[in-house]
Amino acid sequence: MARHPRPHKAKSCKRTSLPSYAHKLPATTALPETTPDMISGGMATVATMGSDKDQLALCLRVLAEIPLAVILLSAQGHIIYANKAFSTLTKFPAPDLIGKDISSLVSQYPDAFCFHHLQEAFRANKPSHKKYRSQKINQDHYWERSNIVLVEVGQETHYLIGFFQDITLQVQSKELISHMAFYDLLTDLPNRIFFSGELESALKESCASGQKLAVVLLDLDRFKVINDTLGHTVGDQFIQHVAKRLRTHLAPNDTVARMGGDEFILLLPYIRHFHEVVAKLQLIKEVFREPFSSNNHILHINVSMGVSLFPEDGEDVHSLLKHADSALYEAKNSGRNHYKFFTNTLGSETTSDFTIEMSLRKALDQKHLRLYYQPQVSFQTGKIIGVEALLRWEDPEMGFIMPDRFIPLAEETGLIVPIGEWVLQEACAQAVSWQKMGLSPLKMAVNMSVRQFQEPELVEKVLAICQQTGLDPFLLELEITESLLLKDLNVIQMTLQWLKKKGIMISIDDFGTGYSSLKYLRRFPISTIKIDRSFIRDSQNNPDDAALVTTLCSIAHHLNLHIVAEGIENKEQYLFLKDLGCDAFQGFYFSAAVPADDISALLREGRCI
Ligand code: GH3
Ligand code: MG
Repeated sequence: MARHPRPHKAKSCKRTSLPSYAHKLPATTALPETTPDMISGGMATVATMGSDKDQLALCLRVLAEIPLAVILLSAQGHIIYANKAFSTLTKFPAPDLIGKDISSLVSQYPDAFCFHHLQEAFRANKPSHKKYRSQKINQDHYWERSNIVLVEVGQETHYLIGFFQDITLQVQSKELISHMAFYDLLTDLPNRIFFSGELESALKESCASGQKLAVVLLDLDRFKVINDTLGHTVGDQFIQHVAKRLRTHLAPNDTVARMGGDEFILLLPYIRHFHEVVAKLQLIKEVFREPFSSNNHILHINVSMGVSLFPEDGEDVHSLLKHADSALYEAKNSGRNHYKFFTNTLGSETTSDFTIEMSLRKALDQKHLRLYYQPQVSFQTGKIIGVEALLRWEDPEMGFIMPDRFIPLAEETGLIVPIGEWVLQEACAQAVSWQKMGLSPLKMAVNMSVRQFQEPELVEKVLAICQQTGLDPFLLELEITESLLLKDLNVIQMTLQWLKKKGIMISIDDFGTGYSSLKYLRRFPISTIKIDRSFIRDSQNNPDDAALVTTLCSIAHHLNLHIVAEGIENKEQYLFLKDLGCDAFQGFYFSAAVPADDISALLREGRCI
């Protein structure tokens, strides 16, 4: 291949090749270990020892014998010499290389980086040194350090000499040392140092993206017993099994590290909702439910976990670890085999959705949710004929939390399903409890979420609750919203019909505020519509609202539906709706939603309007 012009010496340089027999020169003398510096320096010394030919022969012999791989490239870019060490290192037989153009070698052996480096230095006409992973002709990989120097012979001729060394062992030991600095020897999981680095970067990323993350400290319960009874070797194997199981079951994005002893730590990034953390914790508990087998021993072990959340519980590595640790301590102290979240932020004024969600879950577990009941009063008799169960939440630390703050969140996170089930159970039990007190049976109206209707076996669940609590299904009314009727129509229709068949009534809450297609009133087995309070509120001063309420009542009557007016606050509203032939009403005019005991009192005193 044609030579590239060299910028500064192109004209003055006369290039010559070394004799092609050079690589065949035998080694006769054992020489001390040689370095490139010694070689280039040595040329001058040898030059004083005899004729040019002798000197050349001696130099070539030296080159042939030194344990450093050497290759010589002519000014035209042809290999003119390669020593034995080069063949040993790269497995390229030296004779096959002689006379070959460097560019053709690069194209023929694209993975042999020694040729690339030579070509690069040749093109740049500059000395160069590098370290890279290369491939031998037998396809083995190795790490190589190469040093390309430029030598001038006399005034006008120069060559490139490449010196190559196998540094695979050095690189591997370096890799091993750095692996040992960041990985645990027993489990090969990342260690504490690595974890801290990961957490640090994850925090930066979370800050930028506004996402949350969780740190989970996990410690085996009573692990010492395994060591003490079965010995440390089994204990070690057991720790290895635990490590493997954790790694296998967590997502690739999650980091699992071993802190030391029987303690592991997890970093769960990209968290959007609290329930995602809970799901992971439950998964881990599940994972530990399976026994471990080690050395013919079947072992069961539990874990305790402490969780801290970013940004709620800390914004740096230190505080998140510290808080996860105190949560773990709590988990151990309160009986082991469960998880605890670090809790210190509940009282904060700017309580985030995340904290609300976390506390709501806790409220459900710890029974901090309450039901209040608002009487439904018959226009005809003036007596209480039913109640609507309304969810209330008073957190011991955050205080009273408005339903419109937490219900949408519960809907969004799916928490509404267990909450809804609890509400139904509680309300049915309360209705029966009033009956047992000798009070006349009341219709119990319970709000149902669209999410609950998406759950399989809703009807069975409702019936099971009726059976369990002893409530006659004929006394139960489920309040749905119009939005439900826009979902999978056939499924919803079947579910509602099945409920109706079992005696359960269905009412449409907030009627008129959503997408009300009147045809749904005929298609679905609806028994009652509840006119939304917003129409009632303005019906006295807004003729349009008055007309709307009048029309709604008229339609409902024609369809034989019951009508309940919501939000009746004064006599005028009461009389207006009564005149329209509404069946019942709810509202402050009679009573706000009150605790169950207050309803008992109202019923006992026979209060009516
Ligand atoms: P707790 O329920 O409170 O966690 O009690 P525990 O028995 O699990 O004990 P603890 O977590 O306080 O201590 C862990 C023990 O694990 C201490 C030590 O004997 C043992 N241990 C620490 N490192 C290793 C190890 O590398 N291999 C083995 N086999 N055991 C270890
Ligand atoms: Mg332990």
